Amino acid sequence: MDGSRVIAVDLGGTKILAGLVGRDGRVEGIVEAVTPTSSERDVVEAICGAVSGLDDGTAAAIGVGVPGNLDRRTGVLLRATNLPLDDVDLHAVLGKRFGRPVGVENDGNAAALAEWRVGAGRGTHDLVMLVLGTGVGGGIVLDGRLYRGWAELGHVVVELDGPPCQGSCHGRGHLEGVASGHAADGAARVLYGPDADAHALVSRARAGDGPAVQALARMGRLLGAAIGSLVNIFDPELIVVGGGFGAAAGDFLLDAAREVARREAVQPADERLTIVAAELGASAGLVGAGLVGFQALDGER
Ligand SMILES: [Zn+2]
Repeated sequence: MDGSRVIAVDLGGTKILAGLVGRDGRVEGIVEAVTPTSSERDVVEAICGAVSGLDDGTAAAIGVGVPGNLDRRTGVLLRATNLPLDDVDLHAVLGKRFGRPVGVENDGNAAALAEWRVGAGRGTHDLVMLVLGTGVGGGIVLDGRLYRGWAELGHVVVELDGPPCQGSCHGRGHLEGVASGHAADGAARVLYGPDADAHALVSRARAGDGPAVQALARMGRLLGAAIGSLVNIFDPELIVVGGGFGAAAGDFLLDAAREVARREAVQPADERLTIVAAELGASAGLVGAGLVGFQALDGER
């Protein structure tokens, strides 16, 4: 336990990714397990099982990324998206079980931390990360520190009275409802029938299909509206767009997003506004969970 590695767990709605992460973000020994959805106890046991499986005695801390919001004062996971976790204190459970420092963070915040430290945002002091997957998450780095608040960046309104948001969110016209893998699935079904999905939409766009290109460009413009507003609040040096859908459809989203974001951002942020694709791909959440583990080890908040 020399402090050079931690055990990282990226808890997702369908799978748990775990690995040993070094301070440079390098990941080794990745293991994957299906996330149980049967009960809270089963999910917690699955997390503990992933940690145990990697625990060769060298890891000095544990970091966990979770798909939900934490109570900032207590660190308790309030509620997870699509998982039976309510009011769970993973710090306490894992700390007691494994007897070492534990860091727990929202998965979007963890991904932002990873891209900032070892990905597309290296060397910046302020960035906003948007993770476009089935839903939309994200995180914010301000003045060289990860903002540890909720950062529900996917639930900003970009279309008043627009389509309903996903899951338990009762809002309308949120970014997640109109520019995400979920939204792309819906657009694909409208264009190409009930069996089409976001993958088909992106494939058709790559093949030069006009309606597919236009549907993705519209999502890009809505993304740009959200980014313009975020720039007007935070004035970040960099906006990083990642996530599975963001990576797959980036070629069709980012130019449109830049155009609208520049229009909406106030001067002089409009001119220096920089939107880039994420670098860490699907491992951003896992790397970020590891870096959260190092923060717990170092007593950093
Ligand atoms: Zn929403």
